[in-house]
Amino acid sequence: MQTLTVKGHLVQLPVFRAALLAWGRENFRPFPWRLTNDPYRILMAEVMLHRTQARQVVPIYGRFIAKYPDIDALGCTARADLHEVLYSLGLRWRIDLIHTMAQVLVQHHHGQIPQDKDVLLSLPGVSEYVASAVRCFAWGFPEALIDTNTVRVAGRLFGLEVKDSSRRNRTFRELLTALVDQSDPRAFNYALLDLADEICTKRRPPQCDRCPVAVWCRSACQGRAAQDTMSCHPG
Ligand code: SF4
Repeated sequence: MQTLTVKGHLVQLPVFRAALLAWGRENFRPFPWRLTNDPYRILMAEVMLHRTQARQVVPIYGRFIAKYPDIDALGCTARADLHEVLYSLGLRWRIDLIHTMAQVLVQHHHGQIPQDKDVLLSLPGVSEYVASAVRCFAWGFPEALIDTNTVRVAGRLFGLEVKDSSRRNRTFRELLTALVDQSDPRAFNYALLDLADEICTKRRPPQCDRCPVAVWCRSACQGRAAQDTMSCHPG
């Protein structure tokens, strides 16, 4: 069986992924950008979600897509009109980047969202996280999504110290990449994001008693060992 071992802590990947996917199906949050595989809509949502709560983005995304259903509609809008639609998101620089991105997509990419990661990354406003999210959620590429939330979960799972710089750390990148389910990366990443937001939260303590992967989690095991309540999964 495919396994992942970090500092002697072993996770059997197929069972771990199956547990997270099952939990993800039960707890899937049907945000509108999750109910499409249109790369344009996913790209716009991911840029809007940068440093903004999903619940705050929902109504703005709805108005935005109603007004700009495709890249051609967005590409010919005036910057001031776009600000009017998106101003409540805050981060005005982000709105300017969306406007510039639309111009670039229309003028240099025939209004198509590129699949190639390097080309995606060359677009204004597209970070590593956004490029990976678009490739995974639109086309099903098995990309790891690396941000403060997924890094927090990985750190707790494997008992690794998490710092501000961990998002750029190779160990975390490799760990999160190895965890991704290759047959359904889209569902896996949604489940991981939902787990990070609902269960393995920034708040202390995380809700380990509700966590579908607690038996493989080093932090949870250490907590249990202290309480002597139950043993950890053998691997
Ligand atoms: Fe996070 Fe607890 Fe789950 Fe570990 S068991 S991943 S610490 S919620």
